[in-house]
Amino acid sequence: MDSKLKEFMNTVRMNNPGEEEFLQAVQEVVETIWEFYQENPRYKKARILERMIEPERVIIFRVPWMDDNGDVHVNRGFRVEYNSAIGPYKGGLRFHSSVSLSSLKFLGFEQTFKNSLTSLPMGGGKGGSDFNTRGKSDAEIMRFCQSFMSELYRHIGPNTDVPAGDIGVGSREIGYLYGMYKKLKNEFTGVFTGKGREYGGSLIRPEATGFGAIYFVREMLALQNESLKNKTIALSGFGNVAWGAATKAVELGAKVVTISGPDGYIYDKDGISGEKIDYLLWLRNSNMDVVKPYAEKYGAQFFEMKKPWEQKVDIAIPCAIQNELNEEDAKTLISNGCQLIAEASNMGCTAEAATLAAKEILFGPGKAVNAGGVAVSGLEMTQNSMRIDWTREEVDEKLNQIMTNIHNTCVKFGQQHTGKINYIKGANIGGFVKVAEAMMAQGLV
Ligand code: GLU
Repeated sequence: MDSKLKEFMNTVRMNNPGEEEFLQAVQEVVETIWEFYQENPRYKKARILERMIEPERVIIFRVPWMDDNGDVHVNRGFRVEYNSAIGPYKGGLRFHSSVSLSSLKFLGFEQTFKNSLTSLPMGGGKGGSDFNTRGKSDAEIMRFCQSFMSELYRHIGPNTDVPAGDIGVGSREIGYLYGMYKKLKNEFTGVFTGKGREYGGSLIRPEATGFGAIYFVREMLALQNESLKNKTIALSGFGNVAWGAATKAVELGAKVVTISGPDGYIYDKDGISGEKIDYLLWLRNSNMDVVKPYAEKYGAQFFEMKKPWEQKVDIAIPCAIQNELNEEDAKTLISNGCQLIAEASNMGCTAEAATLAAKEILFGPGKAVNAGGVAVSGLEMTQNSMRIDWTREEVDEKLNQIMTNIHNTCVKFGQQHTGKINYIKGANIGGFVKVAEAMMAQGLV
C-alpha cells in the first residue's frame, strides 16, 4: 500500500476509533480512488476526500416507548445527514439490533456514492435505531414509530432530508412514521419514500432494489456475451430485496435455488418461481418463519444454521445484511464454478471476499448493484412533486435505463489495462466525481 494512503487511513482510523464497518467502507473507497485522486490536484487542494468522509451532521436522540404490559423501554435513534452537495439528504431508516453509529455512518457514506450514481439529484443520508421489530406487537411498533418521529420530524423535510425504509422498516413502519410526521408538520408532502400506494407511493418501489440488481447483473453478463438464461442463482434472505430479485431473475430465464432466514437456508433444485414466490411472500407478510414451512410444503432441502454459499451455482447474490459472505464463502463459491457475485445488500461481502471475487471472477459492488431502490425513491419524489402517478411500465422502464447507465459508468471508470472491468473502482470513481464537482462549485461550506 502507498505510504501516503496508509498515513491517510491512519488518520481516518484515529478520528473514528472502533467504527469498524465505517472504516471498512471508507478504506475500500479510498484505496480504489487514490490514484485518480492524486491525478486531480484541485480535489486534493480542496481536501475533497477528507470532507466527504466526515458527515455534515449527525443527530442522536432518545426514543422512549411503552410496551403492551406498561413497561417503559429506551432505544437510541439516529439520523446521519452525510452529504447534501447534489440534493437533499436521502436514504433509509434501519431498525435492527445491529444498528450503531458505525453501521449508520458506513451506510450513509455508501449512500452518498450510490445516490450520485443514479444521476438523480439526491444527497446521502441514513438513520434508524437499535430497536428490533421482531416479536413486537403492532401497537408496540406504532408507539415506537410515533416516539421516534416526535424527534426526527424537526430535522427532515421534502427538500431537506427524505428518509425511506431499510431492514426492519417496511410499509407498515413507514405508514406510522409518515402519519406522525404529517400530524406534527401539518403538511402532506413527499417527505418519505416507499409510502403506501394510497398516499403517494410509487409502483415498483417495493421490488425496485431486487429488479435493479438483476438488471445490473444482466448488463455484467451481456458484456461477456452471456445472459441470465438457465443460470442458477443463490439468494440469501427473503425481504423485499430477495423477493424482487427472485421475481425478475425468473422472468429473465434464470433459476433461483436458494433463499435464507435467520435459522438457515433452503435449496430447491426445481427452482423458486411462480406460486412458490407468492407463498413466500404470504409467509413473510403473515410475520411467519419463511424458510422451514417452504421446505416442508415443497419438499426442498433445509440446511439449519448454514449459509447458501456452499451450493454449486453460477451466480451468488447476497440480499440480507452486511458482511454475510466472507472470504471462505467466496473461495467455496469460486471453486464450485460460480462466475459472478453481486451485492444486492449493502456491503454484503467482507473486504477480503470482495477483493477475491473481483480478481478471480466478476464482482458487482452494492453501491452500483442495489442502487435501484433509491433510484425509484427518486422517481417517487418526482411523482409527488408533480402530483402525478406513473404506470408500472413507465417506472420499470426508467429503472431499467438508470441501471444500464450505472453499469456504463462503472465500465467507463473501471476499465483496466487487462481489459477486465473493476466494478468496485468504477462505481467508486463514478459516484465520487459528481459529488466532488458539486462540492468544488459550492465553495468551502
Ligand atoms: N435503504 C435503501 C438503500 O439502501 C433505499 C434508500 C431510499 O430509498 O432512500 O439504498
